[in-house]
Amino acid sequence: MKAARFVYHRATSAAEAVTLLDDYQGSARILAGGQSLLPMLNMRLWRPGALIDINGVEELAQVRVEAGRTVLGALVRYTTIERDPLIAQRLPLLARIVRHIGDRQVRNRGTLGGSLVQADPTGEMPLACLVLGAVVRAVGPHGSREIPVAELYEGSYATVLDPDELVTEIEFPASPQHIAFAERCRRHNDFAVLSVAATGDRGSDGRWSGVRIGLGGVADTPVLATAAAVSLDGTDLSDAAIAEAGRLAREVIDPPTDVRASAEYRTHLVPIDVARVLAQLRTAGASTSKEKTS
Ligand SMILES: Cc1cc2nc3c(=O)[nH]c(=O)nc-3n(C[C@H](O)[C@H](O)[C@H](O)COP(=O)(O)OP(=O)(O)OC[C@H]3O[C@@H](n4cnc5c(N)ncnc54)[C@H](O)[C@@H]3O)c2cc1C
Repeated sequence: MKAARFVYHRATSAAEAVTLLDDYQGSARILAGGQSLLPMLNMRLWRPGALIDINGVEELAQVRVEAGRTVLGALVRYTTIERDPLIAQRLPLLARIVRHIGDRQVRNRGTLGGSLVQADPTGEMPLACLVLGAVVRAVGPHGSREIPVAELYEGSYATVLDPDELVTEIEFPASPQHIAFAERCRRHNDFAVLSVAATGDRGSDGRWSGVRIGLGGVADTPVLATAAAVSLDGTDLSDAAIAEAGRLAREVIDPPTDVRASAEYRTHLVPIDVARVLAQLRTAGASTSKEKTS
């Protein structure tokens, strides 16, 4: 099928895009990488009055460091996240996780902002941004506001953003020392059945602090397994502590049954995959401390 008729605008600045969104009073949509939007238009699931193309807005594609925080413009593409040495150094979880998204063509076009707004509960970027404690800046006709990713989602494919708001940038606090990630897909680089990301810091005594565990594909939105993570504070991520965290992670899930997997299967996998990722995190911490002492 082909998309229904729409008016096309190519914005040259973020301010112009916001003015255009305001002009259409909620009936326009932003066009970023188009990797989710265009299929939705072609299937006529969406019929916006206008598309506002932001691909020419350079100010939205910048990567910068500001007061110890890393700021990525909404139009930063997956391929930049994959290859930019600054992102690899400052946000290794993003650089690691992005390779699991789609294929090369999708990563050449898809953007961080588009992925966050699309709000796919299996999306890798929403999960990574949640675990890293990122904050989204949204600008609308009445000003700008900051929304922690932990408060961005209302449900599957639904955010708290107003239809006339443009996401301009995503800000990340300093990354934890260590990261780990794994996901299960039915086919290589397909949308995830289940994904788990974990981060944390390991002290010189081998004890862990600030552990965070995020899960994708097991609820309407990506979720933090907070009780599981807190249970690991002060431990050395022993096998017993990891097994207990895997058990606790089940408390935050409400998995769907869909074409990829049943709710029962996802529930079965959660403790297994959380344990697997935490063991990976422990190995990452141990190898870094070995490097330091050698
Ligand atoms: C074959 C294929 C495989 C894929 N596999 C995966 C996968 O494994 N994992 C995964 O996470 N995703 C996957 N995707 C989806 C892909 O990640 C999309 O790129 C992403 O979901 C949307 O980003 P985009 O830049 O293309 O946004 P678009 O498609 O342009 O926009 C998506 C939505 O966000 C809105 N929007 C975009 N930017 C902004 C902004 N700055 N402010 C406000 N609203 C905005 C649009 O109006 C639209 O509603 C796949 C897509 C395809 C086609």
